[in-house]
Amino acid sequence: MRLRVLGKSPSWQDAGGACSGYLLEEGDTAVVIDIGNGVFSKLRQYRDYVEVDAVVLSHLHADHFLDLVPYAYALTYAPRQQPVPVGGFPGTDNPARPKLYAPPGARETFRRVVGAWGNDDLIENAFDLVEYEVSSGLQVGPLRVRFHPVPHFTETYAVAISQDGGGRIVYGADSSPNEELKEFAAEADLLLIEGTLPRPERTGERGHLTPREAGEHGRAAKAKRLVITHISDELDADWARNEASEGYGGPVEMAEEGAVYEVGE
Ligand SMILES: [Zn+2]
Ligand SMILES: [Zn+2]
Repeated sequence: MRLRVLGKSPSWQDAGGACSGYLLEEGDTAVVIDIGNGVFSKLRQYRDYVEVDAVVLSHLHADHFLDLVPYAYALTYAPRQQPVPVGGFPGTDNPARPKLYAPPGARETFRRVVGAWGNDDLIENAFDLVEYEVSSGLQVGPLRVRFHPVPHFTETYAVAISQDGGGRIVYGADSSPNEELKEFAAEADLLLIEGTLPRPERTGERGHLTPREAGEHGRAAKAKRLVITHISDELDADWARNEASEGYGGPVEMAEEGAVYEVGE
């Protein structure tokens, strides 16, 4: 499996950057995990968007799904997606309609978002939308996808992607410190985990991790590789790396847009 970082910004974009988005490829199969603002244009640099099998969402925060909107417009209005010849394309009876696996209740959320300007069914028409069954997970080509709830400000799922004999990648989504993620990520070949905060939230409910906490989760999980993501270019990268490394007890990698991680053979 090959994991490529499309975007790693937290809820506001780095200069020239994109929010959360990761492209997972194995053979001809391609899955996009989360698609926050800015991710669609990054995806286009690496993969034709009509050749994506599925988009999988960890949760329904803007920085993890907003670019479904331009993606849906592309699938709806691109000349090559039309049934009749247009713009030099011959017309097609089979326009691309990627699967969209989203948390329970997503259809209603999407309708509210795009319904704000009268396009209620834009996303569900462009994609083959499935609100996933958390306990059963799903299969995309050779890739097995599993979910596990993690504590965050809204219903959120960590995502594990594995392949027979091909290793296992766990994406922690967004979360406060928690034991479940450590167990869900146990022995992962690669744990991609957020390290958003310069210091723990001072008031109210916690919802994110510091880089040190992210490292500690990787250590507890005995993850073989740790990649820290969802971190702003306005934080000192050397500080964050040192904090995460100390928590992990070994070297960590800081997610960078375009970076590629190979797992398994
Ligand atoms: Zn986020
Ligand atoms: Zn979030």
